[in-house]
Amino acid sequence: MSAQSRSTLEWQQLDSAHHVHPFTDPKALTKRGVRVITRADGAYVWDSDGNKILDGMAGLWCVNVGYGRQELVDAATRQMQELPYYNSFFQTATPSQIELGQALAEVTPPGLDHFFFANSGSEANDTVIRIARHYWHLKGKPNKRTFIARTMGYHGSTLAAVSLGGMPHMHALDKVLLPGFAHIMHPHWYTLGGTLSRSEFGIVAARALEDKILELGPDNVAAFIGEPVQGAGGVIDPPETYWPEIQRICRKYDILLVADEVICGFGRTGQWFGSQTFGIEPDLMPMAKGLSSGYLPISAVAMNKRVFEAVNEGGLLAHGYTYSGHPAACAVAIANIRLMQREKLVERVREDIAPYFRARLQELADDHPIVGELRGSGLLAGLQLVKDKAKRTIFTTEDDAANKCRDLCLDHHLIMRAVGQTMVLSPPLIITRAQVDELVSKVKIGLDLTARHFG
Ligand code: PLP
Repeated sequence: MSAQSRSTLEWQQLDSAHHVHPFTDPKALTKRGVRVITRADGAYVWDSDGNKILDGMAGLWCVNVGYGRQELVDAATRQMQELPYYNSFFQTATPSQIELGQALAEVTPPGLDHFFFANSGSEANDTVIRIARHYWHLKGKPNKRTFIARTMGYHGSTLAAVSLGGMPHMHALDKVLLPGFAHIMHPHWYTLGGTLSRSEFGIVAARALEDKILELGPDNVAAFIGEPVQGAGGVIDPPETYWPEIQRICRKYDILLVADEVICGFGRTGQWFGSQTFGIEPDLMPMAKGLSSGYLPISAVAMNKRVFEAVNEGGLLAHGYTYSGHPAACAVAIANIRLMQREKLVERVREDIAPYFRARLQELADDHPIVGELRGSGLLAGLQLVKDKAKRTIFTTEDDAANKCRDLCLDHHLIMRAVGQTMVLSPPLIITRAQVDELVSKVKIGLDLTARHFG
């Protein structure tokens, strides 16, 4: 099947005949038609009309090493030829599963060097829930079952992951969620900080965890989970006081700390993991996306010695997926890690491209009348859209400013994402300075046209 074999209209008609799209309003699909992406290279994708589009989102925050990396394709091909599938259940393993554990242990923070493999971020978080509860059961504290997470946290789309997450529009789809999940405020100073300084607000937001633990009773709480920087919630990087206080509270009440690294992992914030950027020492660390740069689906849960030793001595771990540690996905993940090490991509983000990217975006945010603030860390950025900069008044859902801006950017061949009233960017880590300049000038066009619409 070649991308050229059908016209765009034919692709669109066939798509609407059979394909149910995730996170898509079918009405919007009917209005604009689906955009068919047919090929990609480096930081660009091409659509079926031949338009070259700068991918400011690295797919869905995942193509960290950029498109068109032949060595990842070769790793998959070799593995598919040699051993396309075998599982890791019942005392079996394959070489690529084993070697992926070794490669991962080289890059994860010290002490987090045992891994359970799954296929997606959602499955990794389901795994976290089951392992944390199993851990407390083994420790003789079976009532420690509840997870505390945050509003606007995103941990995936399975029923457990959606119950864990704090996305109101996702909860609305189910009406009834699973029991055993509680939520506290997210550390979003811009909207919730009021007159507090950022650092004062960081402490207040973290203390919400302590209040919730005391309300539920420490003996009933298994774990706290948070993304180092909340991604899908609007790229919310907490004040610097936040994570140390969260860490202190988890230790005080003997609550496991889980850092969801599905977006922040693999160089996005300028360290291998967001936990290193923010000084978090998690007990469990789910990861996905950048693990294989999205070339094949794979995720992992890293666990520290404390959790691993308990689980290892705890008898049968009655949990696993047919494709846990799929050999081809593992081979691609190893090739991806080796490529990132060889090209020093994490150092490049930290020392060169992210400072440039942030400086350019900061200038734009400072000058632009409808940008309230620039948030994020490294190559993860959120631009808060506002009606009134001085008063920190955000556009309303009815204004729909961010979706307008997103569509305008796409018309000018830049993919960015709209989350609430925030414009989000998460480009491939290989983006060049010239491509950052192109990206910023296209963001500016989108913002100018959006401002004109409301002006
Ligand atoms: N956790 C975080 C922080 C995410 O951003 C995502 C997806 O965006 C997930 C979990 C779910 O990952 P997946 O879509 O691979 O199930």
